Amino acid sequence: MATMSKPSSKTAESFGVATRLVHAGRDPSAQHGFVNTPIYRGSTVLYPTYDDIVHRRGRYNYGTSGTPTMDALTDAWTALAGAAGTVATPSGLCALSVALMASVSAGDHLLVADSAYRPTRIFCDGLLARFGVETTYYDPLVGAGIAGLMRDNTKAVLVEAPGSQSFEMQDVPAIAEAVHARGGTVIMDNTWATPLLFPPHERGVDIAVEAGTKYLSGGSDLLLGLTSANATHFPAVRRTFDQIAPCAGPEDMFLALRGLRTMSLRLREHGRAGLEMARWLQARPEVLRVLHPGLPEDPGHAIWTRDFSGASGLFGVILKPVSETALAAMLDGLELFGMGFSWGGFESLVIPFDCKPYRTATQWAPGGPALRFHIGLEDVADLKADLDAGFSRLRAAG
Ligand SMILES: *Cc1c(COP(=O)(O)O)cnc(C)c1O
Repeated sequence: MATMSKPSSKTAESFGVATRLVHAGRDPSAQHGFVNTPIYRGSTVLYPTYDDIVHRRGRYNYGTSGTPTMDALTDAWTALAGAAGTVATPSGLCALSVALMASVSAGDHLLVADSAYRPTRIFCDGLLARFGVETTYYDPLVGAGIAGLMRDNTKAVLVEAPGSQSFEMQDVPAIAEAVHARGGTVIMDNTWATPLLFPPHERGVDIAVEAGTKYLSGGSDLLLGLTSANATHFPAVRRTFDQIAPCAGPEDMFLALRGLRTMSLRLREHGRAGLEMARWLQARPEVLRVLHPGLPEDPGHAIWTRDFSGASGLFGVILKPVSETALAAMLDGLELFGMGFSWGGFESLVIPFDCKPYRTATQWAPGGPALRFHIGLEDVADLKADLDAGFSRLRAAG
């Protein structure tokens, strides 16, 4: 496929990832020297002659099939993810649905990690079931044992590492090897790590999904999804995208490109501060356990050390049993931690969560109330003071 950005030596593999992030998907010489690719809005693309329109000549045909803004983003993501191609969709959930619809058909069987993002389950149990695809959930710690769960009609296996809310690590290379040996497709929700910390296709993933809403945005100011795939699977992904036309919004794509330039810097700080906060929380008397694969005590630490080059800023904390009133007193008074869904932005967040109502292949019995933290870019000392005051309220109310 022709691309907007001319192949540049600055995006070559020989450069470090931060350098490549600065230059990927950008060609100032095609933009009158301006640094960034602008927002192209549009449905109609005009053809200069009868002959051109009859033969659909030209890179762009119609707004749904792509724009220079979309190419700038998807080209950059393809290079970053080490993929053969990428499509950009209006949300992360939409990107997951494209990955799944590209991989399964009526009569097929699908295996999904029990720790997958909950809306992924709702999509599988709802729309996919209605269209004749059967989904079975599996223990995320299954590893190469996934082979034993595959049926003759198992077409795809979805992995997510670490798991949503509960942060179990999955042995993605072992699962990929076993699934490929039986001809299946490996789909991964790689939102937590991004390709910066876990290069999905290099580790055996066929189709990788990123909620660009999170770290690519970095600002809680847009919704975006990216579905990247290797050479074998990209044609099916692109075909599915073309049949549905779930095009990401032009302004959101522009903002995502802006986020891309600073993503490695931000992730490094989210990871550093996140681990510092995780250690601090682990030492608190109110805390039973911290769910963070970067901690040596975490059951997923060995896999994380082997396969990941860092952590992002999202992790879980299990508190020692305490009344709901005490928990509410802690959370309601927080000044810096906001309570709300999504994550990946510059601000710190906390949510209470409970996986019990919807897990089917594993037991969720953590032994106390569960909180999920996203550590933003504030000063860590201020975040500790905010939580310290929160723990005082918790103790006073308990
Ligand atoms: C947020 C999230 C998504 C979905 O992204 P949206 O853009 O909010 O639809 C998918 N997977 C994971 C792991 C997420 O955290």
